[in-house]
Amino acid sequence: MSLLLAGARLPGSDGVVDVRIDGGRIDAVDLAGRLDPRGSERLDLGGRWIVPGLWDQHVHFTQWAQTARRLDVSRAASAAEAAELVRRRALAEPGDELLVGFGFHDALWADLPTRALLDAAAGERPVVLMSGDLHCSWLNSAAARRLAPGSHEAILREDASFAVTSALAAADDAVLDRWAADAASLAAARGVVGVVDLEYGWNLETWTRRFAGGDPSLRVEFGIYGDDLERAAALGLRTGQPIEGTDALLTGGPFKVISDGSLNTRTALCTHAYPDGGHGVANLDERELVEAMRFAVDHGIEPAVHAIGDEANRRALDAFERVGARGRVEHAQLVAPEDVARFARLGVTASVQPEHAMDDRDVADRLWAGRTDRAFPLADFVRHGVRLAFGSDAPVAPLDPWVAISAAVGRAREGREPWHPEQRIPLSAALEASVRSRIGAGEPADLAVLDADPAALSAGELRTMPVAATLLAGRFTHDTVR
Ligand SMILES: [Zn+2]
Repeated sequence: MSLLLAGARLPGSDGVVDVRIDGGRIDAVDLAGRLDPRGSERLDLGGRWIVPGLWDQHVHFTQWAQTARRLDVSRAASAAEAAELVRRRALAEPGDELLVGFGFHDALWADLPTRALLDAAAGERPVVLMSGDLHCSWLNSAAARRLAPGSHEAILREDASFAVTSALAAADDAVLDRWAADAASLAAARGVVGVVDLEYGWNLETWTRRFAGGDPSLRVEFGIYGDDLERAAALGLRTGQPIEGTDALLTGGPFKVISDGSLNTRTALCTHAYPDGGHGVANLDERELVEAMRFAVDHGIEPAVHAIGDEANRRALDAFERVGARGRVEHAQLVAPEDVARFARLGVTASVQPEHAMDDRDVADRLWAGRTDRAFPLADFVRHGVRLAFGSDAPVAPLDPWVAISAAVGRAREGREPWHPEQRIPLSAALEASVRSRIGAGEPADLAVLDADPAALSAGELRTMPVAATLLAGRFTHDTVR
């Protein structure tokens, strides 16, 4: 049976339209009262606003699902403060199971995170704290014995840290799947219809199992990492290819290659030196990057290259040019002016997370001093016609596209003055970067129904946009209207 959504408005317009949905697709859109209802179920939206369903194009879904259950150390202003939060949690919830915290930003700490500090806080109970940018983790002695034997560093960085992350994600599948279903419902309640899941590790079976478990609330494209590239190629898994038995809601995603580090960890690869003299790290040299990307492209898998520093972005674009392929650069946080136009020329999408600019503005002002005019350069991208894809990098920022849209439109949070307001972009560009479909005949019936007109809200108000309903392929995944 078809569904007629009656009395809807489009953002910034007073005209009222009806939308008829059939077989998971939009079948017709016309001025209110003009469409033949053809025996469809009619739902009056009462003049609410509709936008295409929103996408979060960069998430770490399992970690996001775990985050709500983790100790929040994002507000700790020092290593000692983070350790104090651990001590209190260990007292409040005694036991000997692994205590996991998330969100620290040690780049701004004056004291050193040591194992001894966490040992004093939690004793023999294993403790792992993940940094807010996911590129390092801080372990106490008990956790290190279990998860990083042989290492003597309190802080594990890059690959050593990703290994800890993967080990944490290997918890009980049934528990994680339940948490993931909860996280998907919460995302749907924010108008989300799809995510690109760049969770570390091999995620084909994980998602196939989750889809088999019941009605999914989201479309999912799962990324493939370097260690699994040959396995994906051998399976014939291509980017955009639907996985059987999931109504084409689950598809193969891009080849995710992490070419440099991150800002907070001071591993983002930059042309200028950090205050400590380093330039960051290249996880692959330029030849390795090109070879890996070429192998992926030859097998129908589109590259998504993590590049944060300006040097990493330049190398990523060089590699796209040499391979002659399109794809995405993940993050693109610091970009030389001459490279912005190259994104457009090469057809490379800038997959950016606007809320990171709000989280990192103080760290950027310190570590990228004198260069922040080219940091998170959203308006430059828009001006040069670069395709933008918004994401959260959840759990780095919350899986909520309205947070990203607000940050892109306002470049401000918590009453602070906008950071580099010249890089603010119009709402229309921010919405465009957050969707993959349009409201028109033949398009997927992926829609978000809003209780407010986004065009009438301030940038700050967009952050808490009230979402009345969400439809995924014509099916309600969130509903406060009926
Ligand atoms: Zn990420």
